[in-house]
Amino acid sequence: MAEVSAFIRNMPKAELHVHLEGTLEGDLLLVIAERNNISLPFDDPDGIRRMQNETKTGLTNNLVNFLRCLDICREAMRTAQDYYDTAMAFVRKSAAENVVYLEVTFDVQQAIRQGVPLAECIEALSRVRREAKRDYDIEIRWIACFQRDHPVQNAMETLNLLDPHRDEIVGIGLDNFETPNFPALFAPVMAAARDRGYRLTSHCDVNQPESLAHIRDCVDLLGVERIDHGLNTAQDITLVKKIVSQRIALTGCPTFHVSMTSAPSDRVEMIRTLFDAGALISLNTDDPAQFGSGYLNRTLAACQAAAGFTDEDMIRFMRNTFESAWIDDRARSGYLERLDRFRDTSARAVS
Ligand SMILES: [Zn+2]
Repeated sequence: MAEVSAFIRNMPKAELHVHLEGTLEGDLLLVIAERNNISLPFDDPDGIRRMQNETKTGLTNNLVNFLRCLDICREAMRTAQDYYDTAMAFVRKSAAENVVYLEVTFDVQQAIRQGVPLAECIEALSRVRREAKRDYDIEIRWIACFQRDHPVQNAMETLNLLDPHRDEIVGIGLDNFETPNFPALFAPVMAAARDRGYRLTSHCDVNQPESLAHIRDCVDLLGVERIDHGLNTAQDITLVKKIVSQRIALTGCPTFHVSMTSAPSDRVEMIRTLFDAGALISLNTDDPAQFGSGYLNRTLAACQAAAGFTDEDMIRFMRNTFESAWIDDRARSGYLERLDRFRDTSARAVS
């Protein structure tokens, strides 16, 4: 496991690709399951990670297994209090890591399906946003993700249900299983979201069938500003040029499942290619509790060690994060100045 350097630890940090449900740690999962009378297939906090480990089958074939285990966590969350507790636990972890800005995704359809009243769920997230700012000086923005393996019609209905809560949600994303031809299928709902003023992103998971076509279609048909993952872009020079010239942000996740406490080589190579090509690529945790690969500090350290990135490179990755964030120019300048000050202070300390 890579050491977390003082440089990484002290850098003011942000992340844009993290799933609230994927931050649920085993001990809180047990508490939540018990108060909701849900029986889990294990009875100790490490059970969920053990399950991930026992059933994974290699570097590329883990999305199905991963999502199955993630479902156990997601399905245990039945009340607004569960969402509040999970989110606040993540805020506390982030504060301890000197994270200053977060865009966090939640699966809104899943919450509704599990009987969490939408208004209560959003109010819980709103409270977390206010308390994170007040108590930890962390700015949070919420992204509602629609699930690609559920009917488009349901996504459209959910988008309508979100209308009264428009101000609390900055963007709409697409996640869960990467179904064939999903960009064309979801184009109407994403267009409707854009009309309402939401920012748009979509997952294009790593090493999935038709990944390059999906990435291209997300840009051309959905008009997304960001792609979550999208690392396979690196395999097509034409697509790299398109992503770079259109300033499409990629939220890369270098670590991804439980025994991978370092970053797998294929991901690292793709991240390196995209970074060197000048893509607006950032480094994120995705599902830090579920992967067992650690929160942002360890994720950055693992990627830096695996790819041999310099501290200056890590600053550039963090610049990319703030450049890709859905904030106004004034806030962006503030974060970038803070990052510059940190870099200058660190440089003086070593010289
Ligand atoms: Zn993700």
